[in-house]
Amino acid sequence: MKKLLLTTIFKPFGVDDQYGNSTTLAEFHHTNLTGAQGIFSIRGANPNLGLHFIAENLQIPTVVLENPSLDEFKQQLQDGYDYVGINFSPTTFAKAKKMCELTKEISPKTKTIVGGYGTAVAEAADIADYACRGEGVQFMRKLLGEPLDTPLKHPRVYNTQNEIMGMRMGKAGLIAAGLGCPRGCEFCLTSHYFDCKHLPMLKTGKEVYDVMIDQSEELPLKRRTKTRDFLIIEEDFLLDKKRVDELASYTKKKIDEPILFACFGAADSIMQYDPKELAAMGLECVWTGVESPMKSYQKLEGIDIKKMIASLHDHGIMTITSMVLGYDFHTEENIHEHIDYLFSLNSTFNQFMLYTPLPGTPLFKKASK
Ligand code: SF4
Repeated sequence: MKKLLLTTIFKPFGVDDQYGNSTTLAEFHHTNLTGAQGIFSIRGANPNLGLHFIAENLQIPTVVLENPSLDEFKQQLQDGYDYVGINFSPTTFAKAKKMCELTKEISPKTKTIVGGYGTAVAEAADIADYACRGEGVQFMRKLLGEPLDTPLKHPRVYNTQNEIMGMRMGKAGLIAAGLGCPRGCEFCLTSHYFDCKHLPMLKTGKEVYDVMIDQSEELPLKRRTKTRDFLIIEEDFLLDKKRVDELASYTKKKIDEPILFACFGAADSIMQYDPKELAAMGLECVWTGVESPMKSYQKLEGIDIKKMIASLHDHGIMTITSMVLGYDFHTEENIHEHIDYLFSLNSTFNQFMLYTPLPGTPLFKKASK
């Protein structure tokens, strides 16, 4: 019987070597949100939800390998897989290439597949037998000759227990509600990778709720709050109000063992709701892009962001705001004003991202001219 290995790129991360540098970290909270807090930083890691999702929806026996060392990867290849699928991002291209080469050295008959946002890099198609550009389950089903219309099943996947100074903060269920974003901000790879389309993996609020209940089986109530926490992965989860309202109709009734969730939401999506309504449905934290006070994006037009954040906080909802630095108009003088602007919004956490021309985006095309 044929078998498949799905793997992330190899560790170590965050070191300067021939495959990367010390800025390529693998931890979500520590890298993006609380790195500057030193020993008070939140530490923890999320499993690769995409690989688990694909494995759950294939018939072929599949092993998912996460963050192996190169030696562990080589060892795993001794098991003689028919296919090896490697997930990577544009910044980890060199590691994916090395893993494809190693696979061919150790197991020449094994077919290599690369997938993930890294395949937006034009050369990705040259390093493997197949490059999956787009949604992975249907790609793999087609490649393996498996039925395409089998309903999708969501895996039970949890983040590792996040810690502050070694104290565990509990774990959360990870939910892949959908891919892509229709808004098409010029720097956004996750939107342009899916041609500015939204691909829902969970189409209704009931489907999202059913995954929460299924994952609850292996998710103990948090000791202090007596809640269960979930992180919904979708670029703008609050955009589809019909789906969110349906989810709310279920979560609001979970009084004894409340469900809390965090998600991403553009400002105009958040503004579709009364914050009281969002708190009642269990929204614990929302991550939103404010990008820049000098650049106009439709999602931010006419919205008093500071007021919106204050109103969410008044209802007990935490906020994460994200700003982009490095626009053409940034100068040594105004960049500090913009950083101060973000802090003046008083959100719970702040993230700064660099205006990076990632392959596949309009910004990349502009920068390549
Ligand atoms: S709203 Fe956010 S996710 Fe959507 S295109 Fe813009 S930056 Fe990307």
